[in-house]
Amino acid sequence: FQAEDGIRDAQESRGLGDVYKRQSMFNLNNFLNKIKDKNPNEPEFLQAVTEFFSSIESFLLENPKYTTNKIPEIITEPERVISFRVTWIDDKGEIQVNKGYRVQFNSAIGPYKGGLRFHPTVNLSILKFLGFEQIFKNSLTGIPMGGAKGGSDFDPHGKSDAEVMRFCQSFMNELYRHIGEDTDIPAGDIGVGTREIGFLFGQYKKITNKFTGVLTGKGFNWGGSLLRPEATGYGLVYFVEEMLNRINDTISNKTVLISGSGNVAQYAAEKAINLGAKVLTMSDSSGTIYDKDGINLEKLEFIKELKNIKRGRIVEYTSKFKGEYLENQKPWNIKADIALPCATQNEITENDAQDLVKNDIKLVAEGSNMSCTIEAIKYLQKSNVLYSPGKASNAGGVAVSGLEMSQNSIRTQWSREEVDTKLKEIMKNIHNKCIEYGKESTGQIDYVKGANIAGFIKVADAIIDLGIV
Ligand code: NDP
Repeated sequence: FQAEDGIRDAQESRGLGDVYKRQSMFNLNNFLNKIKDKNPNEPEFLQAVTEFFSSIESFLLENPKYTTNKIPEIITEPERVISFRVTWIDDKGEIQVNKGYRVQFNSAIGPYKGGLRFHPTVNLSILKFLGFEQIFKNSLTGIPMGGAKGGSDFDPHGKSDAEVMRFCQSFMNELYRHIGEDTDIPAGDIGVGTREIGFLFGQYKKITNKFTGVLTGKGFNWGGSLLRPEATGYGLVYFVEEMLNRINDTISNKTVLISGSGNVAQYAAEKAINLGAKVLTMSDSSGTIYDKDGINLEKLEFIKELKNIKRGRIVEYTSKFKGEYLENQKPWNIKADIALPCATQNEITENDAQDLVKNDIKLVAEGSNMSCTIEAIKYLQKSNVLYSPGKASNAGGVAVSGLEMSQNSIRTQWSREEVDTKLKEIMKNIHNKCIEYGKESTGQIDYVKGANIAGFIKVADAIIDLGIV
């Protein structure tokens, strides 16, 4: 009965009469096998799709209009994938060649929006997983933005400012054709901060002769929003506060493990410290620093300067402050109450999750995208650890990017307090949506299911309304 109801819904919503006659039930395994066949050698993309559809399987069975309208197939196929060559000359006068990409995944609810990643590991699988996640994250913010991601296998580590500038200019020489303030608005991600956004924006402006809000994460003096640099990290901690408040607890006096020492990690640490938590660790791709006394604001200032200006390694912390350096190690076997992974995908494996649980971790909230493997998520959830996926808990960054777009459109700049109030409100709303769609009969919240269903409904309904395009 439900399936027939769904078909009728689909027919009515599209007005396509008898085009849809066949009853269609969602079959997870068949669907995932098809995705695997269509996207060979893309393990990260397959992982993101598997996690997503496994969590919404029962919802799709209860709401067959989505399967009838082929939403799973439509939503997993990017609207456009752009791949291009980026050539530039290094400081020694040698020609360098990199790959450049933009995956414009879905624009059903707004212009494409998502970051650019510059890291040697960047490939199509990584960008498709990130773009896919971005669709639902952007939907959850309540701001009309579609999903996209892009980047390059260029490695900014060890490059001079002049080299980074020449690379960014060459990257934009192609990308500018495909973006625009009403089409696609890129932002930063790993390896792309204010410096890179500046060089990219400068070149866009030069080529097009337009000063528009085509990129977010801009410097305040040239069209950026206050609080955008802080937004992902602050938003993450606001979300954690919501998770804890629901069980009558707070982050104050909690011990916190943070991985990474880049943009997200720095501001997650800052907000956690400001709310009375003790941050024990930060890391980079070479190792972890563990400070039993806690990383306070003064020590964090040192890390910010080290990473953002000197572009040094986290080990240098131990030459200035007390603390252990754990070479080539992640922070996950240290005892603490809360873990905030803020470095990269799959940084918490099942073994790491077992270490965390062994040490009585209470909450894991993702700052990085897809921080946990599927097995790690299952283990954490089975062990009754409060767990939040990145698309919910790290959505503060893109939310303030959305606010930056609004400010650019009306040619104004809001105060820090105004942006902070809106950010808190957005994180609270996302948390409420997770509760609405993720509440189990036991009363526990499945944040994965909640975030995925809530993010999906809005985009899927828009796809149906817009017809088969
Ligand atoms: P940054 O480049 O500022 O910092 C990244 C940090 O993670 C660095 O400390 C880096 O160490 C470490 N790292 C990167 N790759 C690896 C790796 N393979 N193994 C171990 N450590 C690694 O990036 P962001 O802080 O902007 O991004 C971090 C995560 O947050 C990413 O997953 C990103 O997608 C996600 N995110 C970012 C948002 C934003 O607004 N910036 C918004 C939402 C999500 P090293 O210096 O050694 O490379």
